[in-house]
Amino acid sequence: MADGAGSSAFGWDVRGRVSCGVALTAGKLSRLLRAGSGDVIGGTIGLKLDPALLEKLGAGREVCLVSGTNGKTTTTRFLADALRTRQAHDLITSQGGANLPSGLVVALAAGRAGAPAVLEVDEAYLGIALLALAPKVVVLLNLSRDQLDRTSEVRMLASRWREVLKSSPSPVVIANADDPLVAWAAMGVPGVVWVAGGQGWHVDAVACPCCGEPLSFTIGGWSCSCGFARPSVQAWLEGSELHMADGRRWEFHLRLPGDFNRANAAMAAVAAQAMGVDINDALARMEKVESVSGRYALRPVAEASQPGHIQACARFILAKNPAGWAEAFGILFPRPAPAVVAVNARVADGRDPSWLWDVAFERLRGRLVVATGERCYDLSVRLAYAQVEHITLQSGLEALLAASERASSMSLRAFDVVANYTAFQHLQRALPAAIRCGCQQGGDLGCGDLVTQPTHPTPTDATPTGAAPVTDAAPVTDATPTGAALRKEARTIPARHPSRSEVCIANIFPDLLGTYGDGGNAVVLARRLEWRGIPAQVVQVQAGTPVPEHADLYCLGGGEDAPQARAAELLRLSGSLAKAVDSGAVLLAVCAGFQIAGEEFSGPSGSRLAGLGIIPAVSVRAKGRRAVGEVTSRPVRGSGSLGLAGELLTGFENHAGITTLSPVVSPLGKVLKGVGNGTAGGGEGALHGRVVGTYMHGPVLARNPKLADWLLEMALGPLPPVDLNLSGDTEVAVSRLRAERL
Ligand code: GLN
Repeated sequence: MADGAGSSAFGWDVRGRVSCGVALTAGKLSRLLRAGSGDVIGGTIGLKLDPALLEKLGAGREVCLVSGTNGKTTTTRFLADALRTRQAHDLITSQGGANLPSGLVVALAAGRAGAPAVLEVDEAYLGIALLALAPKVVVLLNLSRDQLDRTSEVRMLASRWREVLKSSPSPVVIANADDPLVAWAAMGVPGVVWVAGGQGWHVDAVACPCCGEPLSFTIGGWSCSCGFARPSVQAWLEGSELHMADGRRWEFHLRLPGDFNRANAAMAAVAAQAMGVDINDALARMEKVESVSGRYALRPVAEASQPGHIQACARFILAKNPAGWAEAFGILFPRPAPAVVAVNARVADGRDPSWLWDVAFERLRGRLVVATGERCYDLSVRLAYAQVEHITLQSGLEALLAASERASSMSLRAFDVVANYTAFQHLQRALPAAIRCGCQQGGDLGCGDLVTQPTHPTPTDATPTGAAPVTDAAPVTDATPTGAALRKEARTIPARHPSRSEVCIANIFPDLLGTYGDGGNAVVLARRLEWRGIPAQVVQVQAGTPVPEHADLYCLGGGEDAPQARAAELLRLSGSLAKAVDSGAVLLAVCAGFQIAGEEFSGPSGSRLAGLGIIPAVSVRAKGRRAVGEVTSRPVRGSGSLGLAGELLTGFENHAGITTLSPVVSPLGKVLKGVGNGTAGGGEGALHGRVVGTYMHGPVLARNPKLADWLLEMALGPLPPVDLNLSGDTEVAVSRLRAERL
């Protein structure tokens, strides 16, 4: 153990000293054996030996914590650099994104006793860190959907923050006033400093966290009819200036790209001030940051065997969740620069890649995309349905080389790599080490100037005329046929409404029931019709707007408890969905939607709420753990005879509900893996006339195209096969994805 390292904080506390020493040694060993960074294993062992270790390590030092879904690592880096103006040598800070309690233990144990610390904290562990470390300053950045298999619901996280902030010893809280969930968590905390950091992603806060009514967003504000509104701010951004309510302002220009990084810098600057640093000095330090843990760095791409043969540089961008991908897409090199996109679904990434359908991949049209990572086939399916030209390569290095080659064939010197957490690390390692060193003198390669190159929106940012633009707020709205899709002669439309020229698919309340990627089901249905030459239209029915009665197919998706209750109430009041189903429309109801379609379900506070009574079924909340994980089911005989024979269904479940079907209803399938309805018979979902209920996300129709085709045939009668020229390699990617999962 290093002299003066954290253990000396313990005085004569032998248990603390020993645990601290063991944590550091285990970490070192793990690094030596190349088993990992050593932070997790070392810290975990340390905490096992002494559960109070974090508290002991935090005692007697100034601590600043940074938490939120996105921007933690960058904000922590900005803040640490700013604090170095005051604390040149022994400032402790997080390394390599180790932000669980185990990582905090290792960071603190390796530093000097009493030295100040700036640490990033995983949003789900903020409570533990707050109580153990009694920080002086806490920075709350934002909350949005991420790793829902671990965090369940964004709102649940916000309410945990709210509880712990109420009860923790009062730190100075620097909170992003532009994020309603952060505002809800921090409202009422004494000493909170509100910063308008900006927040492009509002999709997880459409319903007021206080009363459930819709929040309205205006430029520079948000409010609800119940009175909950954006608090007045003490600091805000205006272009490249940071303003304070007392009239002071500072102009700053970061090397890191994107509005979101300016917001991170604003939060860090206000936090630095609370830690006693002059804002001018703080911003000057932040302006110098060029890359953070490999992010935004340009790396030349070459094979190990041909280190001199560099075609183009890769700029690495980390994006872990839909809000992060939306930010990443905003800073990409302009089209037609190719891009590598890489996704894994390990524990650290979140095991359910359904969120890919909440990302507006349509924005990548007009450039070659190379899909890679352990979930490259999920990506490929998503890209195909988004009509993005792409190739799929399992090998990370091959993917980088392919993009590099394409870039250089277009005389471009750089391209972007957007990857989620472990995929990012794997791709960084895929580049040969020798070349990696070269990159650190990136200027030699002459591509540094490309970093600041702006992106120019082109008409392909929007969908073809008449369709809603592809936005991040409604990422999967685009199902309007493109020219390519309609090259084939249009067939007669077998739609329910004789006057209509397109099959109509209504996606119900994507703003309330769109948390788990299920909006993709409507897109899959529409594309599979277009690939048969049948024009289709997806109508996104936002909450509060009339529900159409004459659509051919309806989709209900999964959602959080409170928005689910609101959706049920609106649908009951409207009555249109029940009427449409009565008159023969097909309904696919997923998870929260499945519960809503039943007779009764459990509301957010455990109360019993009325469903629509479309499926004779009742859902209650399970007492134990949520059902989270992969599900496989074998369709029951009734459904098999209708076109699913021999087909296994695959999906990802994430729910607290247990659903009991009335004896007159058949389950959709028998569970082979996972929980499904959670009742004794081992059933999954429900099949009731033209209504299909299921707990499967994925989205279920992307992972089970036969189920999609079966629903379409149920609605429209026998259909011709899809035109493989139009569907591209979708079927190949789907079958690979299914083979991985089944
Ligand atoms: N809120 C519901 C439950 O937990 C549905 C969740 C979901 O749609 N994934 O059971």
